[in-house]
Amino acid sequence: MFRLGKVTCELCQSRAPKRHARRGQNAQGACVCGACYAQWEKAGRKCVACGTAVRGLQNVGIILARKGIGHSDCGGARLLYA
Ligand SMILES: [Zn+2]
Ligand SMILES: [Zn+2]
Repeated sequence: MFRLGKVTCELCQSRAPKRHARRGQNAQGACVCGACYAQWEKAGRKCVACGTAVRGLQNVGIILARKGIGHSDCGGARLLYA
């Protein structure tokens, strides 16, 4: 069932190598693949919940309700390297 070293990206549903993914620090442990994260950074690190950028010292989170990335303060589970 669970293949070691790979995770399913919560945003694009693709299987990604764990070392390139980030894992949300919640019960589900939802993951974001490196491609989705890079795309989000390129797009200006905009929070899906409040629409403003996530700045340097703010925690990045995966916001499952909106299938996107944003502030952990906006309801996201903090994203750390898996
Ligand atoms: Zn992805
Ligand atoms: Zn926000």
